Amino acid sequence: MLFQAGRKVYVVFNEDGYTFGNCMLVDDDVRLLIDSGAGRELDQVQPENIDILINTHHHYDHVRGNELFTRAQVLLHPIEHPCIQDLEKVMAIHGWDQLMSQGLFNVQAIDPNDLPQPWRVDGEINDGQEIDCGSTKFMVLHTPGHSKGHCAFYFPEEDLVFLGDICLTKVGPWYGEEGADLNDFIDSINRIIEMKPGRVVTSHVNQVFDNPGVVLSEYRDRILKREKRILRELKANPSTIDQLADKHLIYRQHPSLPVLFWEKSMLRNHLQRLTKLGLVKEIDNGVFGSV
Ligand SMILES: [Zn+2]
Repeated sequence: MLFQAGRKVYVVFNEDGYTFGNCMLVDDDVRLLIDSGAGRELDQVQPENIDILINTHHHYDHVRGNELFTRAQVLLHPIEHPCIQDLEKVMAIHGWDQLMSQGLFNVQAIDPNDLPQPWRVDGEINDGQEIDCGSTKFMVLHTPGHSKGHCAFYFPEEDLVFLGDICLTKVGPWYGEEGADLNDFIDSINRIIEMKPGRVVTSHVNQVFDNPGVVLSEYRDRILKREKRILRELKANPSTIDQLADKHLIYRQHPSLPVLFWEKSMLRNHLQRLTKLGLVKEIDNGVFGSV
């Protein structure tokens, strides 16, 4: 569904659910789309007539339609360029073998032709850059945390920020990438709150959030609530990452192996932050305890 958010600005709400995502269309002198994961709804934006395609970051649900944009210049933050060429990173399963005892796929059974191909990149976007589409102009906000080169986009005329995977879903935020910095994620959310946008839209909720300060604060604070649960558990029981994952401190359920993997990878990133803060240390091989 296309939602008109400004004179020439539309939100493309995806109707295909999980593993797809919402996009932003600027239908001006320059026809521009942000992200390509809207599934069947992409027909409405005429991919072959898009001049510029920007990806918020490298994950599959944001780039999965890129190949349809045959004429478009494809732009991402430079930190994302190597990631979009790495299938494990695109699928958010990089580092699987370090944390999981079982494989995700039967590798023998996969036909290489069925795998998504490496995606084309034509140029970069950077923090503070103004993108000029004619009468519509908007600004790139580098908002690391979900991924290192993740970007959001500020449309001043429309008083709206497209937040990408600062997703505002009930199960977010997600920060399972190796080396993801939770402080970066918190800082990025704070930056948006301080901008006081009238409206925000994310990749994974089919809703325009008006006056989003409270919902953004609550979303940010979930990171620290999770961390408190981890610390409380480690005070009572020094634990490995596997033992912590069994306590479901981040996700209430692990309906699939990737969700278990993400629980563990996010626990790993929390433990890194807590170790740096001097609140946790590795007391034995792989066993963490509170200090
Ligand atoms: Zn993502």
